[in-house]
Amino acid sequence: MGIPVFVFAGLLVHCVFLASIFDIYFTSPLVHGMTPQQTPLPPPGKRLVLFVADGLRADSLYELDSNGTSRAPFLRSILENTGSWGISHTRVPTESRPGHVALIAGFYEDVSAVAKGWKENPVEFDSIFNESKYTWSWGSPDILPMFAKGASGDHVYTFCYTAESEDFGAQDAAKLDTWVFDHVKSFFNSSRSNQTLYSALNEEKVVLFLHLLGIDTNGHAHRPNSREYKENIRKVDEGVKEIASMLENFYGNDGKTAFILTSDHGMTDWGSHGAGHPSETLTPLIAWGAGVNYPQRVASQFFEDNFLKEWKLENLKRLDVNQADIAPLMASLIGVPFPLNSVGTLPLEYLNNSAHFKAESMFTNAVQILEQFKVKMTQKKETTLSFLFTPFKPLSDSEQINLLKKTRLYIQQEKYDEAESTILLYGFAFVGLIIAFFLLIQTCPWTYYVYCLLPVPVWYAVVKELHVIQDLAAYLLSLPVGQSMGFLLICALGIEILVFSFFYRSTLTIGLLVFAGWPVITQLWVQAKTTALIWILLCMLLGIFPLMPVVGREPNIPLVIATGLLTLLISCSSLSSLCKSKNKYMNNEDLKVQFYQMLSIALSTYVVSSTHDSLQNKQGLPVFNQIISWTTLVSSSVLPLLSPTFLFQRLFSILLSLMSTYLLLSTGYEALFPLVLSGLMFVWINMEQEALQQYGLSLKPKLAVFNFSYATDIMQFRQLHLDDVRRSFFFVFFIVTAFFGTGNIASVNSFDPASVYCFLTVFSPFMMGGLLVLKVVIPFVLVSCAFEAVQVTTQLSSKSLFLIVLVISDIMALHFFFLVKDYGSWLDIGASISHYVLVMSLTIFMMLMNGLAQLLTTKKLELSRKTKHHST
Ligand SMILES: [Zn+2]
Ligand SMILES: [Zn+2]
Repeated sequence: MGIPVFVFAGLLVHCVFLASIFDIYFTSPLVHGMTPQQTPLPPPGKRLVLFVADGLRADSLYELDSNGTSRAPFLRSILENTGSWGISHTRVPTESRPGHVALIAGFYEDVSAVAKGWKENPVEFDSIFNESKYTWSWGSPDILPMFAKGASGDHVYTFCYTAESEDFGAQDAAKLDTWVFDHVKSFFNSSRSNQTLYSALNEEKVVLFLHLLGIDTNGHAHRPNSREYKENIRKVDEGVKEIASMLENFYGNDGKTAFILTSDHGMTDWGSHGAGHPSETLTPLIAWGAGVNYPQRVASQFFEDNFLKEWKLENLKRLDVNQADIAPLMASLIGVPFPLNSVGTLPLEYLNNSAHFKAESMFTNAVQILEQFKVKMTQKKETTLSFLFTPFKPLSDSEQINLLKKTRLYIQQEKYDEAESTILLYGFAFVGLIIAFFLLIQTCPWTYYVYCLLPVPVWYAVVKELHVIQDLAAYLLSLPVGQSMGFLLICALGIEILVFSFFYRSTLTIGLLVFAGWPVITQLWVQAKTTALIWILLCMLLGIFPLMPVVGREPNIPLVIATGLLTLLISCSSLSSLCKSKNKYMNNEDLKVQFYQMLSIALSTYVVSSTHDSLQNKQGLPVFNQIISWTTLVSSSVLPLLSPTFLFQRLFSILLSLMSTYLLLSTGYEALFPLVLSGLMFVWINMEQEALQQYGLSLKPKLAVFNFSYATDIMQFRQLHLDDVRRSFFFVFFIVTAFFGTGNIASVNSFDPASVYCFLTVFSPFMMGGLLVLKVVIPFVLVSCAFEAVQVTTQLSSKSLFLIVLVISDIMALHFFFLVKDYGSWLDIGASISHYVLVMSLTIFMMLMNGLAQLLTTKKLELSRKTKHHST
């Protein structure tokens, strides 16, 4: 009864702390209520065509093929003869939504959208589309609707294909682009027999937006160096050429059409985007047509990167912009107001216009940005002033008198204890009231009430249990000064190592090497030579993983298969040793369960190899494999519950089940990680037993016959010891290792989409995300179960050991809280948030995992009705 409440309250408090950073550091920078600003001179163009080739890297477009020709001959001839070109620098996160928002609305997406998954409109915003007379757009259902939804009135039209056609496993993704080109052509054809549409198309301030998802999709599926990705660029080039000439025909070469081609973000060599690598942030920008400058020949130009030479473009002036600058560029080309929230500056060099026009446009641009600042200022003034002038005295007097009266009354009645706790309760309620009153007069959002009032009950609980803290302080003071200081120093050092590991994964290797030295330093070595030796070996083996690269590696399916076979070998030997020992506690049912699990490991190994073979031959994901994968996933959560609850058998069974799922999600060396980690965990449990004996604390239950389900009955819980702090630290360290061992989960970017191919190949962010989270969680479960075993075998109540764990991880969280940045590049901001979110989620997760581990280790499902009582 006590533990669930404690866990629940803990969960709640940590969730609130996690959410708080979004209010403390990030509130929406967007303001509303500005007046639209527009250049007062006639614009050069009547219509604008915007091509966004999703996921197109600048170098992939500009570079020449091995035979010295461009793979986009039409666009190449444009930038050489008729238009202007450059690189558009995007910000992180290099995702489709923020990229398109920067392009079309001119601002870098609100950070608070992080929490909203980039999907919905977190805030209403203005865009070029909204400011246009009419916008017609074609492309992906993930992108188009967000601009149509925010637009006022009915003048932004979208034509999307269905989400299901975005299958990037089997069919040719360039078809997504062909779809767009074909639909634009037939749309213009149909207007010849539709007078309303025809005259609308001939209006001024018209935008046509072609969103081309093929390149991004091919890049994810085959990577940017593939033939498919490059071939898709060729297709897009042809399509752009056809559309451009079709439009010139349609409008009778009136010279009033402006064209812009760019992309929302690039892509890494391994087919992902989201982070700040140059391959992701450098995107192409080519503009031509009405109002756009002709190519400017230069003798030499200097850029820090060495692309110009590689692309053979040294003599054509490269005009770089920031992504948000493209919005004002488009606005000035067709004479619509700058989007209200735009922060872009007009790239003047792209304009082919009079000095007067340029000067007026620049001025309008400046006024428009200033408008936002003014509105923000006014808002700030309003909220701050009201607080300064409001007095807050009336509450305190009467309340205080009341409180004092009641206290005196109780004291007179000699109810000292009750008086004390009542003072406490009233005192805290009083503080809470004052805080609420302050918030009320400042008209704060409701979340502020939660943040400010939450500490009140928490501190109330702390003060009530003050004697525990006093005891601890007394205990620390009773130790020799050197020992207690040394102890605190080691604690601080250990936590710093953990904090460092968030920035440099290799710190974990150093930590593991120190761990390897543990038995030598503490003389455990003398007591149990073999165990200590295996411990040292496994620590070093595990230390290799944080040194391996997380991104940019090629899949290594043979290694995954080898791991599957190794797991089978290990389980065979464990099975035979079980049979040999004729364990009287085993029966046929239990053997059957283990047999099923081995079968499922074998099946997983087969599915991994056959799926990747089939995908390589472009035959898609076989349905049979998909069924097996999902069945394995489901069964792996149930099978361990059927196995006997003896310590090692149950833990081994959990390992086998999780391993079969993990194999399905692996593409390379990481498959070995849970195996090595569990090996270390098994030894850890043994080592802790030895350590316990060293202090003469142990009744030493025989581990081989130790049973989880009787653990709580037979155990006499002992007092906390200094060594328990080390135990808890080991756990936190192993948890962090489980997180960072095979990847840097601070960056979603490091996940290879290939790792979910056994389950699905249709692009589904939700499902994929879920599966990737599962992959991260599996090593986590293994460590949590081992920790559960350590807790029960070292005769500690899980509550007390876990409390130390929480203290350690909360100190880490505090560390990262102060490291959260709300300035600098998106990369810095993103990394600092994700670190804090990570360490807080880690803490929340550990609480959930603690519960899950207890369930996994102690519960047993009975399949058959016959009773299986074993006397112990
Ligand atoms: Zn994209
Ligand atoms: Zn993408």
